[in-house]
Amino acid sequence: MKLEDGWVITLISEEIDNVLSGITTALRDTEACFTEAGSTFKKWAMKFALHRSISAHNFLEGFVAEDFALSDVKGFTDSLTIVVSEKLKRDIQVALHGGNSNVLDETATIELYSKMKKDVAQEILDHLGVCNEVCPFCNVTCHLQITGEHTHVATSHYPQGVAGGRWADSEDLMPSPCTQLMATDLVYCIEEEPMEIWKKYKDYKTDYDSWNIKPTKADEPIHYWKWVLSTFNDDFARIYNAKPAKIPEEWIKLHRIWL
Ligand SMILES: [Zn+2]
Ligand SMILES: [Zn+2]
Repeated sequence: MKLEDGWVITLISEEIDNVLSGITTALRDTEACFTEAGSTFKKWAMKFALHRSISAHNFLEGFVAEDFALSDVKGFTDSLTIVVSEKLKRDIQVALHGGNSNVLDETATIELYSKMKKDVAQEILDHLGVCNEVCPFCNVTCHLQITGEHTHVATSHYPQGVAGGRWADSEDLMPSPCTQLMATDLVYCIEEEPMEIWKKYKDYKTDYDSWNIKPTKADEPIHYWKWVLSTFNDDFARIYNAKPAKIPEEWIKLHRIWL
């Protein structure tokens, strides 16, 4: 039997419409629960996840939400509604009409899912009282829960190797956090084609004035990031085309304890 072109689309488009309209209804009903202008993301997310259209999909299993200020519930709902009813719908339609042959292709599905996730996450971030600037050296996100112009700060920085930072001579990934490097005379490189310019970490403000990275001589990354770099050292090296970091002996001892 030869199936007609587009049979999959016909089959699932009604279901997709139902899911998307269930989400938009849940967004509006959730908004109605917040009579005050502002709330927190955690309160909003818990209410949304319990909505009958959403809870049926079991999103509450392992559900964790950070508690950030959500100052404009209506604006947040309006933006998410547009993402769901216009952007997501369009993306799904485009993916499904991609010649129809790849409708059931796993790669196409993963790509669509990751794009949708990114769009929704960006919309949420834009409305939360969080800063999403990252440290120019280790990529840690600014830890201040504010928006607008300010000096960015992180309570702890990652080992630079997790962001690809390496020693220039050996190409080994660096296990040191930015705070420790700021207390040394070591240098970093800014590539300005066709030249490389080397500057002392302690003078980082000349390039990254909006960041405040406190020089701390004996500072160390938190245990979690020590574990991450120790465990995935070879993977990071491969991804960044560098050599694995020389992990301090103390970290390896810790690593054994964790195991
Ligand atoms: Zn950093
Ligand atoms: Zn910031």
